[in-house]
Amino acid sequence: MLRKNRLFTPGPTPLLPAAQTAMASFTAHHRTADFRALFQRVLSDMKEFVGTQNDVLVLACSGTGVMEASVSNLTSPGDKVLVLTAGKFGERWTGLAKAFDCNVDVLSVPYGETFSLGDIRARLTPDVRAVFVQATESSTGARHDVQGIAKIVRAADDHTLLVVDAITGLGTTHLDADGWGVDLIIGGSQKALMMPPGLAYCAVSERAWTRMESTKSPRYYFDLRKERKSAAKGETAYTPATSLFAALDAALEFIRGMGNGNLALGRETLVNNAELCAEMTRAGAKALGLKLYASSPAAALTAICSPEGVDSGKIVKEFREVFDAVVANGQGEMKGNLFRIAHIGYYDYLDTIGILAALEHVLARTTARPVEYGAAVRAAQEVYARSLADKRQLVGALRTALEAVLGSS
Ligand SMILES: *Cc1c(COP(=O)(O)O)cnc(C)c1O
Repeated sequence: MLRKNRLFTPGPTPLLPAAQTAMASFTAHHRTADFRALFQRVLSDMKEFVGTQNDVLVLACSGTGVMEASVSNLTSPGDKVLVLTAGKFGERWTGLAKAFDCNVDVLSVPYGETFSLGDIRARLTPDVRAVFVQATESSTGARHDVQGIAKIVRAADDHTLLVVDAITGLGTTHLDADGWGVDLIIGGSQKALMMPPGLAYCAVSERAWTRMESTKSPRYYFDLRKERKSAAKGETAYTPATSLFAALDAALEFIRGMGNGNLALGRETLVNNAELCAEMTRAGAKALGLKLYASSPAAALTAICSPEGVDSGKIVKEFREVFDAVVANGQGEMKGNLFRIAHIGYYDYLDTIGILAALEHVLARTTARPVEYGAAVRAAQEVYARSLADKRQLVGALRTALEAVLGSS
């Protein structure tokens, strides 16, 4: 059969066609009124996309660049910091904090798990200057309780900053950075924004801006204060990734369309979309007798354990060779034990049903046990049908309430 190449990886994710054409045709120089207008519109829209009143900065780098910036801007050598780690991206926080000579306390839980809030509270001594965590740990598919963690950090001490790598969390997970008191939240272009790698962004609280005035770690390109100053004038400190800004503008326009002209609503719709794709995928995997890897699964991606005796590399290879579908293997020590299917950004019902149908064939080809064709698809169909019924019920209830209000006035 004809095969279409499709990415089901947790970054890079499938590209929005409108973003691709926007960047292909973009030629403006960055020190012009045209670019300034685009840049300012994008920064203002990004606040709505993140759901924050704080300044949002967009930098030319991958997500790790802004993770590094958060460490170099918010800490001084010798500062005590708490890293919460449950996977490869949590370990990246440890590496970064050590690279900048922080005194790192690591609260680590096994891959696939998430933290107990009590354990975090116990580690939060008043000398902890910053806490670093992921919203969703893309290497294991786990969701961390950012709201719960923020509550503990905010209650502990006003001088403790909370930094959240939400690189796969933003656009897949309902997050309220301002309301919960997150000081720096990070995202990347190649995830829910449906565009190529190359941009990373963050929203920065007043508490974090104040901290930057006194911290002493070395920084130059990633000096966030410098970027903030330039952004206030409609510019970037150095040459911006101009064509990626054009792509970002188009992606934000698409998300606004998902909210019928309201970008904040569009973001909520995008998050609900990921949640539904993830729920369908979990139901499908379970219907095939497969186990999920994460105890508190994220909507960003679903990590599925390889069946007993089957290397997940074989599953990944079959997906690619038979269907030209790219799913992710486990990372590091998890390689061979699990495979990951993403729901971040530009995925719809048909993608989700399709990958589950393909999974049935892949399992039939890689395992000795019989596969009941249609089992995963049926389970996903039921989840989808239930969500439609719930939505109809909600709309009905809203209409009744509205009629009651209008009728009585
Ligand atoms: C993708 C990702 C990153 C950033 O990785 P880059 O390759 O630097 O873009 C960081 N954290 C998480 C949780 C991610 O999924």
